[in-house]
Order: sequence, then C-alpha cells, then structure tokens
Amino acid sequence: MSFLTYLQGISRDKLKLALYSATSGDVERALNSPEGDLNSLLALLSPAAEPYIEQMAQQSVRLTRQRFGANIGMFLPLYLSNLCANECDYCGFSMSNKLKRKTLTGPELDAEMAVIKKLGYDSILLVSGEHETKVGIDYFKQVLPQVKHQFSYLAMEVQPLAEDEYSELVGLGLDAVMIYQETYNPQTYAEHHIRGKKKDFAYRLDTPERVAKAGVDKIGLGVLLGLDDWRLDALLLGHHLAYLESKYWRSRYSVSLPRLRPCTGGIAPKAELTDKGLVQLICAFRLFNQQLDISLSTREAPQLRDNLFPLGITHLSAGSSTQPGGYVNPDTQLDQFEISDERTPAQVSHAMKRRGLNPVWKDWESAWVAG
Ligand code: SF4
Repeated sequence: MSFLTYLQGISRDKLKLALYSATSGDVERALNSPEGDLNSLLALLSPAAEPYIEQMAQQSVRLTRQRFGANIGMFLPLYLSNLCANECDYCGFSMSNKLKRKTLTGPELDAEMAVIKKLGYDSILLVSGEHETKVGIDYFKQVLPQVKHQFSYLAMEVQPLAEDEYSELVGLGLDAVMIYQETYNPQTYAEHHIRGKKKDFAYRLDTPERVAKAGVDKIGLGVLLGLDDWRLDALLLGHHLAYLESKYWRSRYSVSLPRLRPCTGGIAPKAELTDKGLVQLICAFRLFNQQLDISLSTREAPQLRDNLFPLGITHLSAGSSTQPGGYVNPDTQLDQFEISDERTPAQVSHAMKRRGLNPVWKDWESAWVAG
C-alpha cells in the first residue's frame, strides 16, 4: 500500500474531531509513554496539551540530550537557481513573479562554496526552484561531484525526481533529500499550487518512498505551517513518518517545521502558529520519535531561535542566503523568502555555547566507512 492509499483511508473529519476533543487524561497518558505512538502524538499536538507545554519541554530536552548529547549539527543552504516552472502563491520564486532569474555556473558555484567553507561549514543543502529542463538531472549530475569534492555531507532540496535519478545521484555523493509536502490537505494543496508539475499532489506525496528505495541515507519531511490547520498537518506528517519508518527502516529521517513567512507576492497564513504552538510542535515530535532529526531554519527570530535550540533541535543553519549567488553578492534581491535571524554563524555559535550546546560543523566523512 502506498502512502497515498493510506492517506485516502483516513477520514480527515474524524481525525480532526479526535484531535480537538482530546482530554487532559489523553495528554497525561501520552506523557507517560509517548514513543512512536500516533495516539500519543495526537494528544500532544492537541489544544488539551497546551497547559502541559512546560512538562513536554522538560521531557523533550532530556530525551534530546540522551540521544544527541549537547550537539547540534550546522548546515547551510546553497541556492543553485531561482528558475521555477511552478506557481505557488506563498513563494518568491513563483514563475509569474517579476524577478531576475539566475542559475549558478561552475565558477559561480565554486565562488559560493569558497565563502561557505570560510564560514566553517562542511554540511551543505543544495536548493533550487523546480525547473526540470534548465535545472534538472543533467545539471545536478554536473554539480554534485563539484560540491562533494568540498563538503562531507550533501543534501538536496529540489524538485521530485524519479527513483533511478536519485540512485544516480547517490552514486555521485548525495546523502540526503528534503522533500516537503507543504500540506496534507489535497484541497488546500490545490488552492496554493496553481500551475506547473508541483500541482500533482500524489506524485509529491510518493517522492519520499522513491528516495528511500534509491538508498538515500536521510529523508527530510515537512509541512509549511500555516497553509492549513497546523495541528492536523503536523499529525499527518507524523503518520507519514511512521509509515516510512516501518517500511524503510534503513533510512534516517528528519523533519523541518517552517512557518509561513512573507515573500514576494506573499499570502497571509490561514491558521497562525504562535511561538507557543511552535514549542508544542517541536516537543511533540521529540516525544513521538527520539531518533528524529529536527531542523530549524533562519525564518525564526534570533531570540526565539535561542530559546528553541535546547528543546529538541538537532540541526540548524546560520548566516543563510536564500538567493543564488547570495553569499558572494548579498544584495541582489533574488530571495525566496525573508530571513529573520540575520546573525553570523559565529554569533549563533556563541549563543549556542552560552546555553551549553555544542555546534558541530563536521560529523561525517565517507572515508570512515570505506572498506
Ligand atoms: S515553492 Fe518551490 S516549486 Fe513553488 S514556486 Fe517556490 S521554488 Fe517553485
């Protein structure tokens, strides 16, 4: 059974009713035995869990330290291109936005990487808009060896690819794929994805399975919180994660929890996720899955990020640019979305250390497992 079939078998109305009618007794039961149980996740994401956030946070900090120590992995996004053949009404790269379009050439990519290396990073996330013909598999096959030569850990956040294409990229050094569903509500999905291949809800939903079958080490899932009811979307994200873990247990998993942010031609969130709600969400996922990587982007404000770091976060970026060529030329105004935390990596690192956390710039080297 594919996850699409699984999802179609769930009654959204019934699940929503269960989520909003969970009781304090359900939350207390979940706090006593949370791990891996979707009923516990439901209770911890429910409004009934709000009075228990402090308790959830304490458990979350403890479980995160038990599994990950005080370590937080540092990565940086590198935007390859802002070309996009889709229209998503929340994104600055949408094809109808009047924006100067750019795809990095080989020498430009080298120049970007040199700046990032100087900042101390060894883990990179390659990002692009979704443009199959100009920034497709041939471009990625050209770029990956160049990047892998410089960075030990290489993740990608680009358009969904076919299984054999992922396999080819694994052979060139691909370690992780981030593929965000944005929302698990097909109707809301259709409202926000207006033109282009991304309109295909089912193809996107099946992508993590193709990634897993291709043998990619880590798979990143996520929703854009605020497009739809964030509690229900987060719960369905938990279902997706549990489904994948039970079938593809060799892969590792991460979740990203971005809130809808203003962008060029942007929209307002349908269901606002408050700071307190974000804390609840992070802690609920940590209690649900103690092995899970949880990453935090620079979309959040500095003070909030500093407070979130210890709660369950395992990976974060600092000093990010969200435009192609943005590390060499920061002022070109080609951004995908606005950044809230504009501190340098050194400043963020200092803030982490003040909280007893250890920023990790390199945690992987393929030679360590070479025979
Ligand atoms: S969200 Fe992705 S696919 Fe949609 S417009 Fe932005 S870059 Fe393109």
